[in-house]
Amino acid sequence: MELTTTVSELTKLLSSVRREGRTVGLVPTMGYLHRGHCSLMEAAARECDEVLITVFVNPLQFAEGEDFETYPRDLERDMELAAASGATVAFVPSVAEMYPGGEVLTTVTVSGVSEGYEGAVRPGHFAGVATVVAKLFSMTTPDRAYFGEKDYQQVVVVRRMVTDLSMGVDVVACPTIREPDGLAMSSRNTYLSDPERRAAPTLHAALRAGASLIESGERDPAVVRATMEDVLAAEPLFRLDYLDVVDADTMRTPERLVGELRLIGAATIGRARLLDNIGVRVDG
Ligand code: AMP
Repeated sequence: MELTTTVSELTKLLSSVRREGRTVGLVPTMGYLHRGHCSLMEAAARECDEVLITVFVNPLQFAEGEDFETYPRDLERDMELAAASGATVAFVPSVAEMYPGGEVLTTVTVSGVSEGYEGAVRPGHFAGVATVVAKLFSMTTPDRAYFGEKDYQQVVVVRRMVTDLSMGVDVVACPTIREPDGLAMSSRNTYLSDPERRAAPTLHAALRAGASLIESGERDPAVVRATMEDVLAAEPLFRLDYLDVVDADTMRTPERLVGELRLIGAATIGRARLLDNIGVRVDG
């Protein structure tokens, strides 16, 4: 695996890859890799000739007071895991390399799908995400880009950006990888104390409770929401941001639950803000 920290070196590397007619799969990450990230690289390795992983903790997607400074980092371990998961190139730029103009005056904003939920709790977050993903696409012109369903709204936002800006990248969404007790893997799980770690799967349990209610015929989103909130409220360590059921494409709650749906949730436990979601399909 080749490691590069500069855009110019990356461009050189990729142009020889292109000359040979090889396809490129991009896997953008913020590092501190776990099996969720590895699954994206493994999927890319199955479908593309070259697997390009990027490790960049993007300041633009963190708001004031969030965990940008303390976000966990371990580059040596990341590089070992990336190579073992099939990555052929790792791009690990500094903030100055990614944002050479200093203050960023040009950003990408996706309206609508980015406004509720994570977008409401973390103003500016999705503009930060869309901007860095657009920059990575423009630097690397990948054939495919791999994202985790774990960050479901992010997938919807990126897909919409690619459609609206005709970026010509195939966005591949990969299933969420979980711990055996249901907790979605996340770099931020490292923030959890032992009691918090034991309580953490309750977020997934709440979503599962909502899904089984829908599967048993419930079509009123308010009832599903209330059930999920009850499950989470039974775990006093959690502070709820939102639990809801939305249309999988629009991120809006339908009046009646039919079609491709997503149960989504976010809650804080100790220092960790956890996100999770699951899909349910109701044939109308
Ligand atoms: P992050 O480093 O948290 O920005 O995540 C980088 C990519 O890995 C994103 O596309 C995430 O959705 C994805 N990802 C994070 N956690 C998981 C997981 N548990 N399962 C699958 N994909 C994940």
